[in-house]
Amino acid sequence: MKLNTKIIHAGVAPDPGTGAIMTPIFQTSTFVQTGPNQHKGYDYSRAGNPTRTALEKSLAALENAQHGLAFSSGVAATETVIKLLKPGDEVIAANDMYGGTYRLFSKIWEDYGIRFIYTNTSHTENVAKAVTDKTKLIWIETPTNPLMNITDIAAVAAIAKKAGALLCVDNTFASPYLQNPIDQGADIVMHSATKYLGGHSDVVMGALMFNGDALRERLFFIQKSSGAVPGPMDCFLVLRGIKTLHVRMQRHCENGEKIARFLAAHDKIKKVYWCGFQDNPGYAVAQKQMRGFGGMMSFELKDDSVAAATKVLTSTKVIALAESLGGVESLINHPATMTHASIPREERIKYGLSDSLIRLSIGIEDAADLIADLEQALA
Ligand SMILES: *Cc1c(COP(=O)(O)O)cnc(C)c1O
Repeated sequence: MKLNTKIIHAGVAPDPGTGAIMTPIFQTSTFVQTGPNQHKGYDYSRAGNPTRTALEKSLAALENAQHGLAFSSGVAATETVIKLLKPGDEVIAANDMYGGTYRLFSKIWEDYGIRFIYTNTSHTENVAKAVTDKTKLIWIETPTNPLMNITDIAAVAAIAKKAGALLCVDNTFASPYLQNPIDQGADIVMHSATKYLGGHSDVVMGALMFNGDALRERLFFIQKSSGAVPGPMDCFLVLRGIKTLHVRMQRHCENGEKIARFLAAHDKIKKVYWCGFQDNPGYAVAQKQMRGFGGMMSFELKDDSVAAATKVLTSTKVIALAESLGGVESLINHPATMTHASIPREERIKYGLSDSLIRLSIGIEDAADLIADLEQALA
């Protein structure tokens, strides 16, 4: 089945009891049993719920994986992967990944004896050099937030395989429509379903997709034991969001390209970070492993100051100033004072996150309105 058809149909079958074409919201904590431990596959909604099962099957299909698991947030999904590890184990992680992932690793799991080695994974030789006999997991994100750096998934998968470590790819920015890391050799794909999968800025959720029954046993055991599961209503919302993933992503890509080209030609702008530009260092790899370049981008002003950036950020009228991304509406954000404010300025600038850097999540509005909005805000 092709992706556009899987997006609509995978995991979802008409309700056998009523014929309802949409998966019902099974808003129940428990299930009546005909005898002790005799039930229809569900005994308690932390362990399993039919609305969640439909979503998990759909999630697996989107990433060409055998299994999918849904969690109460993206970071809960991430934490579930870390719980596969033991004290003394080492993780090689990207040095410019999502701030919440870095916080979870460095401020929580480091204290439990897991060691995290951060490196620039865009240069895969850095990953190979960081491998030791204790490396159990490699964690990458591509494209990254907010500089749209690209890492070669297949090259890192080869390093992981040789090291006997798992490779987990945070595929939130690309979405399954643009990139399928398991096809490139990754072991686990992680999503913040809060973003493109949900797609409507109305739900917080996370997901893991992977192959192998043994890995499913371990991850499912952690999911039900730790309990960071999403409720049935949220599962319904993400199931519904997924049904339009392909048409939304097509428009995100079209609008993204138009706005990236508009910004690059603007005389107040110094640089635009978008992985579809040929002079982007990751362009060749992005072309190899992605089916499009998406609607995420950042740009720097020639007047590289927080004040100049603030002026732009507070002047847009259609584009809303907010954290998060991947919804139908366009959002603008200032990494230096918002998403990346916890990084000391010196270190932030070293990573290329300058004072005036502005991130855009381009939505699916009319591109002409978005361009006009940016034009007047930059003026
Ligand atoms: C938002 C996000 C997360 C965290 O997901 P939540 O759903 O907010 O917990 C992880 N990775 C990336 C790339 C994100 O954008």
